[in-house]
Amino acid sequence: MQYQLIDDFGRQVDYVRISVTDRCDFRCVYCMAEEMTFLPRHSIMSIEEIELVAKAFVALGVTRIRLTGGEPLVRRGLVENLHKIGKLEGLNELLITTNGSQLVRHAKTLKEAGVKRLNVSLDSLDEAKFTAMTRTGKLSQVLQGIDAAIEEGFERIKINAVVMRGSNDDEVLDLVDFARDKAIDIAFIEEMPLGNIQSHDRALTYCSSDDVREMIEQHYPLTHNPQKTAGPSRYYSMPNHKTQIGFISPHSHNFCSDCNRVRVTVEGRLLLCLGNEHSLDLMPILRSQPGQIVPLQEAIIAAMALKPEKHHFDLHEKPQILRFMNATGG
Ligand code: SAM
Ligand code: SF4
Repeated sequence: MQYQLIDDFGRQVDYVRISVTDRCDFRCVYCMAEEMTFLPRHSIMSIEEIELVAKAFVALGVTRIRLTGGEPLVRRGLVENLHKIGKLEGLNELLITTNGSQLVRHAKTLKEAGVKRLNVSLDSLDEAKFTAMTRTGKLSQVLQGIDAAIEEGFERIKINAVVMRGSNDDEVLDLVDFARDKAIDIAFIEEMPLGNIQSHDRALTYCSSDDVREMIEQHYPLTHNPQKTAGPSRYYSMPNHKTQIGFISPHSHNFCSDCNRVRVTVEGRLLLCLGNEHSLDLMPILRSQPGQIVPLQEAIIAAMALKPEKHHFDLHEKPQILRFMNATGG
């Protein structure tokens, strides 16, 4: 039976982001605290449980799945088994968001498993700044990873860059030129207040998408592309160039009215909105009725009624969402 996932505001959910691990080899300052305690193995979904969740959503009409985390490519057993999700009938797109550190090793297998598009996070092209922002990352590894992915010929590769005033806002143009040189796309993200961090005051480092766009427009005129995409980005193009520039603006351009997605955290919690706690725990179903798809589907359909109308982020207040992005699945 083909169900449709429609919420109380008439929005059809056809896109799911599944967090496959909360662990990561980086500690990006906007995403994690310096000292993190990661979840014990028994409280995270097994690879089989992740596959079942994916299968349940696809059977309900979901056509796009993005695997994220934490860093999805550090999850043991994931890459080797990815083709099982990639080959689900009805799934149009299997996507991955990665920090790129393991791409040299995995790009080929990802392509073979049916991954069509990759988002690779890259906030800086300056070695020292990159390490400062990621705390542990090595720029050269990520750049080699991006080249390996380009070599594999994915349908689309997009750089994701969180822009922080005083850290990397002076690199906006360099990042655009990098994307142009590589003939790939790039999206600039406004930092979201997820989790309590001590490294910086988010209100002070906030850099709006409009400011970023102005910086770019001083060098390249931008034309808005009105076509809808699967995600919250608004896209612009430059004259005579195929590189698209996206803006993800949770503060300055609320995108909730078009929201077509839900998330599943690595603990199996179905999260109906990134900026709210409305959720339904799928883990008790996964564990009490292992391998059973029907109860899972029933719970997912019922959860649609919990999807809130919109998120409310305020950088001047204490974060209301205490879960970090790595646990949420960005
Ligand atoms: N580790 C992978 C990566 O970095 O691409 C996937 C997970 S990461 C949580 C997904 C995306 O969320 C990245 O592009 C990252 O820059 C972004 N992100 C993390 N914390 C964020 C925050 N507080 N506000 C906005 N974007 C954030
Ligand atoms: Fe890791 Fe991605 Fe979070 Fe950076 S943004 S710490 S790479 S999960």
